[in-house]
Amino acid sequence: SKKAVLGPLVGAVDQGTSSTRFLVFNSRTAELLSHHQVEIKQEFPREGWVEQDPKEILHSVYECIEKTCEKLGQLNIGISNIKAIGVSNQRETTVVWDKITGEPLYNAVVWLDLRTQSTVESLSKRIPGNNNFVKSKTGLPLSTYFSAVKLRWLLDNVRKVQKAIEEKRALFGTIDSWLIWSLTGGVNGGVHCTDVTNASRTIDSWLIWSLTGGVNGGVHCTDVTNASRTMLFNIHSLEWDKQLCEFFGIPMEILPHVRSSSEIYGLMKAGALEGVPISGCLGDQSAALVGQMCFQIGQAKNTYGTGCFLLCNTGHKCVFSDHGLLTTVAYKLGRDKPVYYALEGSVAIAGAVIRWLRDNLGIIKTSEEIEKLAKEVGTSYGCYFVPAFSGLYAPYWEPSARGIICGLTQFTNKCHIAFAALEAVCFQTREILDAMNRDCGIPLSHLQVDGGMTSNKILMQLQADILYIPVVKPLMPETTALGAAMAAGAAEGVDVWSLEPEDLSTVTMERFEPQINAEESEIRYSTWKKAVMKSMGWVT
Ligand code: ADP
Repeated sequence: SKKAVLGPLVGAVDQGTSSTRFLVFNSRTAELLSHHQVEIKQEFPREGWVEQDPKEILHSVYECIEKTCEKLGQLNIGISNIKAIGVSNQRETTVVWDKITGEPLYNAVVWLDLRTQSTVESLSKRIPGNNNFVKSKTGLPLSTYFSAVKLRWLLDNVRKVQKAIEEKRALFGTIDSWLIWSLTGGVNGGVHCTDVTNASRTIDSWLIWSLTGGVNGGVHCTDVTNASRTMLFNIHSLEWDKQLCEFFGIPMEILPHVRSSSEIYGLMKAGALEGVPISGCLGDQSAALVGQMCFQIGQAKNTYGTGCFLLCNTGHKCVFSDHGLLTTVAYKLGRDKPVYYALEGSVAIAGAVIRWLRDNLGIIKTSEEIEKLAKEVGTSYGCYFVPAFSGLYAPYWEPSARGIICGLTQFTNKCHIAFAALEAVCFQTREILDAMNRDCGIPLSHLQVDGGMTSNKILMQLQADILYIPVVKPLMPETTALGAAMAAGAAEGVDVWSLEPEDLSTVTMERFEPQINAEESEIRYSTWKKAVMKSMGWVT
């Protein structure tokens, strides 16, 4: 029975662009015991702008925690077995808040947001062609994608942010920092608790309250993986970089403390899990890499969520790409543990194109319905859909691109467009996989996948056909949350989870083998490339 093998439990917050989840795993078997999910609103106040409400995000986390704990109760599993909590989050999305009131000073500017295009253009003129210090220090191309330019925009355009900076009340963070600061107390300070042996006395409560923050509020921190996406972080020295902060004009005192991905940051201040340590923190793509157990050099995974992100572990070495990939921090699982790096191929729009077909065109009511439409025709019938809604990321890094649907005839219907949308996700993956193979030298023999879109079997089969290698998917699809839970459970002082892969050798996989021939696959792919060329240079 489940109970016989029930080890300590570890929870994970998975705060994505589309939704927030809280999940609880049995650390002995990696079995997912209970979870709850809430969809997050996205606001598009102007063309190219994408915002979310930081308070809504925080409340969704509390709601998911409470509901998951209720479900555990219904399974007769005591929540006191939860020994640690990990956080994994959408990366780059930028929040500035007031540390005195706890209020965000503007909406979260989401990673997909394009408002900083002119900021990027003027900044790039100041980078000498023969010394791209931004790229060499951060591993990233100057783009609207990363936090530094979003933060620069907030400093230039939002009076409340400017005032809070002048008054030394402002804190900056990506979603991980905003959540950890809030969950560990925010403006309310230390954890007010006691245990049964001390219930009649008071000194322990006073000490714990004071030690966990007292009146000084939440813990303002981030981890190395999230920091590496801000464009202010030196990925070699693993510190905020003074020259970069000067270049972007960012006051360093508003930046969070940078910690490893696996250590105790603080304790939950409120709710059903009050007093439980938060001891893991990883950007979602790093978390998925850990959850897929890609601990060896050359191991890679591709996650299909709002966007699509292929990461390949390059070990302790920073590998710089000649083919449009990013160099990023993969993980550092403990204060005294070594850092691992990854090469990353980032695709801005993957699942978001399905959400667009649902919300903007209304041709489906739920994301799952896309599979039925695509299945009806089994081909795009010459229709190609390049969803360059936010320009194109890897390998092009072309902000001037915009989405196009082309190859239409009188015959084309919504099913063909649905099929073309799925195919677009596969073609984009093919482009980054090709780049990865060229940079790494050793081609991947199969692709490990996860993320919300991988429940779509047509997509998975198409992907195998277009890559012409097998696609392998764990049956437990919540690898992002699993990675964050593993980091939290393995933290010094928690130690309920050893990170040895053999612990998880029971993980079962589903395989999709290529079914069309390589030649057919190449023809489709080269037509896609033609469509991509047409999407570029749309805005100037
Ligand atoms: P994120 O981590 O970015 O929040 P998820 O991994 O939760 O994303 O995946 C959600 C995305 O996947 C949404 O954009 C949604 O439209 C898409 N999606 C979910 N189910 C399906 C499906 N069956 N087929 C295609 N796309 C899907």
